Amino acid sequence: MSADTTPTDHRLKPATAHETRQRLEHERATRLTQLQALAEAGEEAAEHLMAAQKETLQRVLKEIDAAFARVEDGRYGTCQGCSKPIPAERLEILPYARYCVPCQRTTD
Ligand SMILES: [Zn+2]
Repeated sequence: MSADTTPTDHRLKPATAHETRQRLEHERATRLTQLQALAEAGEEAAEHLMAAQKETLQRVLKEIDAAFARVEDGRYGTCQGCSKPIPAERLEILPYARYCVPCQRTTD
């Protein structure tokens, strides 16, 4: 039996820039795959539905690009509304979040 049990409480630990980039890369790859799938679905899918999905995906991809830029200039993880740090849990769920939850609510 090993004495050094590694704690698994990574929940509250802020991600490193490297982890953040990996997370964002993953998000981007997922959206690009979805866009590709939409393109391949072609006429089988309802046109308007495809357009809406495509628009959503492209909007998210833009957000992901913006998040990458924030990682580069050190502003990543800071709310653009109140300038407070965005909680790590939120960034884990939404790695490209610009706002903390209260600010996001007022923006919507
Ligand atoms: Zn805020």
